[in-house]
Amino acid sequence: MIEFKNVTKHYGNNVGLENATVRIEKGDFVFLVGPSGAGKTTFVRLILNEISTDKGTIVVAGKDITRLSRREIPELRQKIGMVFQDFRLLEKKTVYENVAFAMEVVHAKRKDIRRQVPYVLDLVGILDKQDRYPNELSAGEQQRVGIARAIVNNPRVLIADEPTGNLDPITAMEIMEILDKINLRGTTILMVTHAKDIVDQMNKRVVAIEDGHIVRDEQGQYGFYN
Ligand code: ADP
Ligand code: ADP
Repeated sequence: MIEFKNVTKHYGNNVGLENATVRIEKGDFVFLVGPSGAGKTTFVRLILNEISTDKGTIVVAGKDITRLSRREIPELRQKIGMVFQDFRLLEKKTVYENVAFAMEVVHAKRKDIRRQVPYVLDLVGILDKQDRYPNELSAGEQQRVGIARAIVNNPRVLIADEPTGNLDPITAMEIMEILDKINLRGTTILMVTHAKDIVDQMNKRVVAIEDGHIVRDEQGQYGFYN
């Protein structure tokens, strides 16, 4: 689903990634970990084609994305759902409208929007709050909306960037259960995180980056950090 082959990305004298090779299969759930400045954001921005590689190739959903035309970039981004630490909801739109908007911008049919939005709101457990505004929701509820919006167009891959960073431990685990459920429905998940407790509890594959190098890549074994 996502394959990096010998990918290097420098920013002037700073190393973003150095000769990184990694393969994430369809249906995988992968944690991307590493200290600040390790290259995690670089990894994600390369997948989204927000920045380009210096060397190497990146394949997403069967397509080499290192040589996309301008027209193909939106096509790539539609295959990828994004969840953020700070939710990034539209404050003037309701829960329903926030999620519907993600379908409207890709010109989905109104009939499909009316069917799909309640379906994903129910999947993340927030259908009962569909008419609320983001500032009327708890942080955990806002993140549920963020996840609903990210999956409403059925992306192949969900990238979650520190999705539990603003949540208390119990709420964080509820969010992890939702991500697990989405993964079990077939969506590949890449989650960037610093939360060692979550990584250890979830028992998934962990890819660790340091100074732009992939230093560990291990299948779920309890106690990655222990
Ligand atoms: P992480 O997300 O793991 O904190 P980043 O991918 O943001 O790491 O950064 C990796 C390295 O690349 C760091 O040394 C960082 O300072 C550098 N870097 C990232 N973005 C830029 C940029 N736009 N210009 C210069 N250096 C950058
Ligand atoms: P139409 O029949 O005119 O297409 P819709 O049923 O799609 O109208 O809904 C009209 C507006 O109401 C839409 O902009 C949508 O965002 C909002 N809406 C639709 N269903 C709900 C709902 N269950 N809860 C909150 N808002 C909704």
